[in-house]
Amino acid sequence: MDQITPLKDWQSNPEYPFVVAGPCSAETEEQVLQTARELAQNKKISAFRAGIWKPRTRPNAFEGVGLQGLPWLKKVKEETGLPIATEVANAKHTELALLAGVDILWVGARTTANPFSVQEIADVLKGVDIPVMVKNPVNADLALWIGALERLSNSGIKKLVAIHRGFSSHEKSLWRNPPMWRLPIELKRLYPQLPMICDPSHITGKRDLIYRVSQKALDLGMNGLMIETHPNPEQAWSDADQQVTPTMLAEILIELDLRVPELHNPGYEQELEQLRSQIDRIDNELLDVLHHRMQVVHKIGDLKIQNGVTAFQIQRMNEIMEKRTGAALKLGLRPEYIEEMFRTVHEESIKTQTDMMREHHGLP
Ligand code: PEP
Ligand code: MN
Repeated sequence: MDQITPLKDWQSNPEYPFVVAGPCSAETEEQVLQTARELAQNKKISAFRAGIWKPRTRPNAFEGVGLQGLPWLKKVKEETGLPIATEVANAKHTELALLAGVDILWVGARTTANPFSVQEIADVLKGVDIPVMVKNPVNADLALWIGALERLSNSGIKKLVAIHRGFSSHEKSLWRNPPMWRLPIELKRLYPQLPMICDPSHITGKRDLIYRVSQKALDLGMNGLMIETHPNPEQAWSDADQQVTPTMLAEILIELDLRVPELHNPGYEQELEQLRSQIDRIDNELLDVLHHRMQVVHKIGDLKIQNGVTAFQIQRMNEIMEKRTGAALKLGLRPEYIEEMFRTVHEESIKTQTDMMREHHGLP
């Protein structure tokens, strides 16, 4: 993936974040055109989306209008000039979308999870210069996401975009698909040149939360948003709870604060430099403290070996967790953060002591 075209080189309105808007599903020609006409009033919209083939979890749900929707998208492009985007899940969809003049393709979360389907799509796209956006797979597996991007890249696709749409989870939560921000952040760390946009509609499942997740995505440095937009969201044939009207979308986009990834301003840079050297010093102190702690862990390990006591003691672990999270709360630190950190610290202590015991037994 070393040949990726920057988003700004092909985005229709490069002065804004890349915003893809439009209905979850194309339902009728009227609905598609009405949405597009309203969206086209807004210069911040970069492309129009509509699902033609809908991957639904259960059969008998609305599975998209199929082929008949493609001419509606074509009309959108002719009438409004907005580039049109749709989801493709297999070779046939891809061929039909190319024939219909679709400008941008995206691979949905269920498809990204299936390397056979992604390869089929990539094979059709060999030698075609078209932007392709790849949603993260439904499961929290970064390698699958990267694999799908690589298959497309190997086919010669250079206008690649990753879409973060959250990951499915069994736990009940505020989210339809919990964002697990550390995964898209890790993807960005591994492939800094890969543009990434956020799909707050599928993360939240609720229109009221879209603004907040969009802002967070931009605060993290994501390059744009995909937001499901419908003229009459409550009546939508799919994903009714998470769609917004074009007017609501315009309000969200006005509210959003934009940040720059870097700023070359001497005052700012100097202050940042000072604060960062403070952080460097504090991190070194933290390492000294961890080193010191580990020396004591070794002493305890020796003591346990001499006295034939186990490395792991449940009540001690519980005590550490309780005391440290209690102290964290008093300091205004998030208890979950401190709990996770001390779990790691404690795990390393146990590992060190069991390694000492293994050596004591003369085992390799
Ligand atoms: C969609 O964008 O409408 C869609 C089906 O999304 P996902 O693949 O993220 O579930
Ligand atoms: Mn949807």
